[in-house]
Amino acid sequence: MSQDITVGTIASHSALQILKGAKDEGFETVAICRKGTEKVYRQFKVADRIISIDNFNEFASIEDELVDMNTVLIPHGSFIAYLGLEGIKRLKPKYYGHKAILDWESDRQLERKWLERAGLKLPKMVDSPEKIDRPVIVKFFGAGGGNGYFLATSEEDFHEKMEKELDKGRLNDTRYIIQEYIIGTPLYIHYFHSLIMDETEIMSFDRRYETNVDSMGRIPAMDQLQLRIDPSYLVIGNFPLVVRESYLPKILQMGENVVEASKQVTKKGLYGPFCLETIVTDDGEIICFEISARIVAGTNPYVNGSPYTWLKYGEPMSTGRRVARELKNALNENRLEEVVE
Ligand code: AMP
Ligand code: AMP
Repeated sequence: MSQDITVGTIASHSALQILKGAKDEGFETVAICRKGTEKVYRQFKVADRIISIDNFNEFASIEDELVDMNTVLIPHGSFIAYLGLEGIKRLKPKYYGHKAILDWESDRQLERKWLERAGLKLPKMVDSPEKIDRPVIVKFFGAGGGNGYFLATSEEDFHEKMEKELDKGRLNDTRYIIQEYIIGTPLYIHYFHSLIMDETEIMSFDRRYETNVDSMGRIPAMDQLQLRIDPSYLVIGNFPLVVRESYLPKILQMGENVVEASKQVTKKGLYGPFCLETIVTDDGEIICFEISARIVAGTNPYVNGSPYTWLKYGEPMSTGRRVARELKNALNENRLEEVVE
């Protein structure tokens, strides 16, 4: 047992991998489940303890229990979705990661400043519908998982589709941004930055499986026109991917630059798992449209490690396990307080 710490997380998103990785590193684990979802976490034997709550907005009611267990919470996509930024900042149990970075990640303007400072290429922003002079993607703030995004090619097209989307009434936040639509192949790059080792590592890559955009190629263009299908981007799963080896030096440099730039905007900078969401164009440019400053679910195909972590570690090393390894290394060097908040 690794020095009486319990590794815990919300049971969704990438929890299986996080908890399995923690167990592999010798930690006790706890899964915080929404009632009715426990069976999966029991069946896969990843949780030593399960705490059930009716709804994640009751998370505060179990925090003392987590503190008593000396829990370190590992954040993932569901934390932001269910607890919100302020909920995360108020958490009482220990939390792996630098909370200040969340302000930079969740505000699209700050995020852009950060990535620009890192020297990444970003899609152009279009200030208002009248200025649409190229294909654009319209992204709502309240579009969980890309649901509700739409493409537009002109101002008229924008207004028509916007009206249609608002009529559906399914968005909880109707603020939006208009971004240049980049034509190319999506590439999600998974990194890990170790504070303890002072190193940025390439962990793996994925591409997403999204409905309905990924099924449009199965419908002949003629029928697409008749059916008037608008693409949507609700993520359903992820495919594993390896990239051309000659791209790796550039990709590693991008990750290192993002970490360096983060140190200029926050006290500790970004550490732990993070992901650059990119599109690679046909002239080989890697355009980054978003950063996730935490483990992404695209690492889930690699519970047993990726080709890259196999090269580096020679043992199964998922991103979840890499987090636990970092905690273990921090404990061994008496530096846990540096990596948790
Ligand atoms: P969930 O717990 O599945 O509701 O997911 C929480 C957040 O993570 C949502 O914003 C999802 O869009 C995102 N998410 C969940 N699974 C995936 C996935 N496989 N790939 C990318 N994003 C995901
Ligand atoms: P997101 O929710 O921001 O991760 O994006 C969801 C989907 O929209 C992904 O499939 C991306 O490939 C696509 N996407 C987002 N931004 C762009 C862009 N600027 N150009 C092309 N595709 C994009």
